[in-house]
Amino acid sequence: MVMVIGLDQQLVKQIEDLCNARGVRLTSQRKRVFELICASPKASSAYELLEDLKLSEPQAKPPTVYRALDFLLEQGFIHRVESTNSYIQCCSCNAHKHHSHLLICDNCSNVIELQDDSLVALLTQNAEKHGFTINNHVIESHGICQSCASEKAN
Ligand SMILES: [Zn+2]
Ligand SMILES: [Zn+2]
Repeated sequence: MVMVIGLDQQLVKQIEDLCNARGVRLTSQRKRVFELICASPKASSAYELLEDLKLSEPQAKPPTVYRALDFLLEQGFIHRVESTNSYIQCCSCNAHKHHSHLLICDNCSNVIELQDDSLVALLTQNAEKHGFTINNHVIESHGICQSCASEKAN
């Protein structure tokens, strides 16, 4: 079970405000799925989210979760981790769409989101040399995080 203690209520408030400003509805299920994603330090799979959602909404089915995830992705509140087929909250949750570079720890599944426009610009430039137009990026690096690395050293 996911602990909801220590959840960043500020972040939830922020997306509520953004939804109001955009005139889109943050239903209780959408909000709950976002809270569950935020509550977990690691990336969550749709299956894990469904299991946790069932605790408060026993009638929840896979489409319930997928619809909520689609909404949250569309609004830019979360990111999909393609290589592990899981989801994390966006570190900025802000209005503008962005490409992020994800650092994924293979030991604890913690995900760090980095945003570096110069990296994306470089990739775009390199593709343009081949007359290629990029529509989407998936930039994910696998490895070991700082806390896992220091645990192993001890
Ligand atoms: Zn982001
Ligand atoms: Zn780790």
